[in-house]
Amino acid sequence: MPPIDEKLEAILADVVHRNAGEEEFHQAVREVLESLGRVIAKHPHYADQALIERICEPERQIIFRVPWVDDRGLVRINRGFRVQFNSALGPYKGGLRFHPSVNVGIIKFLGFEQTFKNALTGMPIGGGKGGSDFDPRGRSDGEIMRFCQSFMTELWRHVGEYTDVPAGDIGVGGREIGYLFGQHKRLTNRFEAGVLTGKGLVYGGSRARREATGYGTTYFVQSMLESRSDSLEGKRCVVSGSGNVAIYAMEKIRAFGGKVIACSDSNGYVVDEAGIDLDLVKEIKEVRRQRISEYARRKGGDALYVEGGSVWDVPCAVAMPAATQNELTGKDARTLLKNGVIAVGEGANMPCTPEAIRTFQEANVPFAPGKAANAGGVATSALEMQQNASRDSWTFGQTEARLAEIMRRIHDSCAETAEEYGAPGNYVLGANIAGFVRVAESMQALGVV
Ligand code: NAP
Repeated sequence: MPPIDEKLEAILADVVHRNAGEEEFHQAVREVLESLGRVIAKHPHYADQALIERICEPERQIIFRVPWVDDRGLVRINRGFRVQFNSALGPYKGGLRFHPSVNVGIIKFLGFEQTFKNALTGMPIGGGKGGSDFDPRGRSDGEIMRFCQSFMTELWRHVGEYTDVPAGDIGVGGREIGYLFGQHKRLTNRFEAGVLTGKGLVYGGSRARREATGYGTTYFVQSMLESRSDSLEGKRCVVSGSGNVAIYAMEKIRAFGGKVIACSDSNGYVVDEAGIDLDLVKEIKEVRRQRISEYARRKGGDALYVEGGSVWDVPCAVAMPAATQNELTGKDARTLLKNGVIAVGEGANMPCTPEAIRTFQEANVPFAPGKAANAGGVATSALEMQQNASRDSWTFGQTEARLAEIMRRIHDSCAETAEEYGAPGNYVLGANIAGFVRVAESMQALGVV
């Protein structure tokens, strides 16, 4: 692991000690602290008043019981979480994840990342994250609704337009946000549109929110390639996952003239040399909620399903991990390099292990970290909040144009910051420093709170 500044090493040791066993959280903090040595060397005042220690400690952590009744009449118990990490820039903002792997360490890593990501958007939003170890797979609509209602029966007292504004993440899409919003409305007797984002269009959602994270990641990768006088045009691409982020990354890659050859889910991956048929993926995943193996069965021809294994074995020029944390390892990175990868963009949060990131950087392959590259989702959520506050509804084109402009700005700010701090082309360092400086400036202005 690369060395970090002595003072920051002590802060990291304290974080590890006080948050024992929360490995993903340690990993996320370490990555940011590795970048901050250069900032405090240049501007020591950012380390005053235990600012960095405070930034690593969530402002509030809520853990609660979520009881619900399944279709057989059995009472089930899950655990709910909301970590309100940092509100120096605005109300806490960040998604809810429903997945059996969720625990407090995962939610803390996501909330920590979210704080810097939201800062990078330039919008007035703080960082938070939440979720549950509930597994939505194989559950009926009725079970999903009862679970969401029970989850909101506790969460409602902690959220609000000016307090904390959740959205979706893994396992939480338009259907779940609808059930959560319905229960919030019922409990509070208020139609408070600004309390959740990712809403359906008919009750206050924003056009292009569904597409925003995947589109945004692709805009970022395109900007990265353009800065090297290249583009996605004609490139073979592989995207992992086949959920919200993956589907709309694939859609935008195609719009930029790239060809997506493979995508996956947690059981396996499909390869289709003719180019992934997106309408079929949408029907399987968004409408029927089936496994990606269905794709090969329905498509026939040369489409191939590989059970298990790694989607990163499929040769490509551009790789976009868009499933989950630590899904792309050092070994996968070496395979990608051997197969000629020229750019990597993280659609998911922290999908590349530290070893994978180092491998790409040492090979001089432009690498876009999730906290910058996937910020288009939360940025468009902030646009949804703007529309709700002004009781307005923008067109798709208007909203996507704002998204494209925001992504270009984030790209440029990461590139310029990396340059300013003596590490040109290092988007990880650029994103961490640019995000940190904005949060730190606000925290200093607000005093020790
Ligand atoms: P989603 O719609 O639920 O899709 C998740 C996809 O990843 C599914 O294909 C899922 O496969 C796969 N996956 C999940 N856990 C996995 C695991 N342990 N191993 C292998 N594959 C796994 O979720 P999403 O909204 O697209 O989110 C994907 C990533 O993007 C997450 O890291 C999320 O935090 C990040 N992100 C999302 C947004 C957003 O706006 N939605 C914004 C920023 C970042 P199965 O169906 O088999 O589980």
